[in-house]
Amino acid sequence: MDFKRLVTKITTQAYTPDVSELVGLLTTDQREALLRSAGEVCSHYMNNQVHLRAIIEFSNFCACQCTYCGLYSGNKSLTRFRMPLSEVNDCISEAVAVGYRTIIFQSGEDFGLPADYISNCIQYVKAQGDIAVVLSIGDRPASELAAWYAQGADRYLIKHETSDPLLYERLHDGAQLKNRLDTARTLKGIGYQLGGGFMVGLPGQSIETIANDLLLLKELGVEMAGIGPFIPHPCTPLCHATPGTEDLTLRTLAVARLLLPKVHLPATTALATINPNALKEALCSGANVIMRKVEPENYRRMYEIYPRPFARYLTPREQRAEDEALIRSLGFQPDPGRGDGYQKEEE
Ligand code: SAH
Repeated sequence: MDFKRLVTKITTQAYTPDVSELVGLLTTDQREALLRSAGEVCSHYMNNQVHLRAIIEFSNFCACQCTYCGLYSGNKSLTRFRMPLSEVNDCISEAVAVGYRTIIFQSGEDFGLPADYISNCIQYVKAQGDIAVVLSIGDRPASELAAWYAQGADRYLIKHETSDPLLYERLHDGAQLKNRLDTARTLKGIGYQLGGGFMVGLPGQSIETIANDLLLLKELGVEMAGIGPFIPHPCTPLCHATPGTEDLTLRTLAVARLLLPKVHLPATTALATINPNALKEALCSGANVIMRKVEPENYRRMYEIYPRPFARYLTPREQRAEDEALIRSLGFQPDPGRGDGYQKEEE
C-alpha cells in the first residue's frame, strides 16, 4: 500500500492496524513525510497548542530492580532522599505562581512512603485552584490508588516499558508485565486518566516490539503516553548497552501520533538529553507536551534515572519563559488549560 493511503488508514480511529503495517511506517524511507504528517495531525487535533506541565521528583527511594534505571535498588552509590513536605509545598506554590496547571508527582517505588504524604500533596495543589494532579509513583495497593482518586488526583502515569513479556521479565528481575498492565487497568477502572509509555532502543527490542508497544497503548486506552529513548546509566547492569537513537524515537513518536491522534504525547526529557534540538523536532512531529522539573537543584541531581550532561539550572520562572518563547517560535501557543485527556473533555 502506498505511504499516503497507509497514513490515512491508520489515522482512522476505528481502524486497528496490524503489526506489519506499523513496522512499514516505522521503517519507511519517506521519513520526512512521516514526521510532517504526524505534525499535521497533531496541529489539527491539538489546535496548535502545547501543554506545559511541572514535575516534582520528590523521592528517589526505590525497591525495584529495573536494570535500566539509575534509581534501581542495586545502585548503592546513590544518596537517597525524600523531600520534606514543607519543601514540596513550596515547589507546588512556585509552579502554580509561574503558570503551570498540571503538577506531576514522581518517585521511585518508595515503599516507605506513607499514603498521607501523597494526600497532602493532592490537597495542597487543590487548595491553589483548578490544577490537575498527576501521580507517577509506581505500583501501589488498589485501596491507596482509589483513596487518592477520591481526594482529587486526576491522572496516573504507569508505563508498560516494553510489550514483550520475556524482555520485560529480563529487564525487571523476573517481575511480570501482566502485573503492570493489571495496575494500569485498575487505574482506568477507578476513573483516572491513564498515562502509559515505553522506551525505544532497549537491548533485545525489535521493530516488531515497538509496533506491539504502540498497539498496546491503543488497547489500554491511554490518554497520555511517554515515549523516549533508552539511555544507559553507568551505575546499572545495562551500562554498556547501546542507547536508543533520536531517529527511531522520532519515528515512533510520529507513528504514535497517527495511531492515537488525540492522546497527549510529551517531547520527553530523555529525547532532549540525546539532542537538545530534538525537542523542537518532536514538537513538529507529533508531540504536544513539555514536562519540566521544578524541584530545587540539589534534588534534581540525585534523581538521575539516566545520565544527563550538566545542564544550566533554570528556576521554574526562567524555564517557563524559555519554553513559552520556544513554543511561539515554532508557530504554536502555550495552552492555558489543564490539558485533560480527550475522554474527559468529551464528557
Ligand atoms: N517508579 C515509577 C516512576 C518511573 S518514571 C514507575 O515505576 O512507574 C521513570 C520512567 O523513566 C520509567 O517509566 C522509564 O520509562 C524511564 N526510564 C528509566 N530508566 C531509563 C533510562 N535508562 N533511559 C531512558 N528512560 C528511562
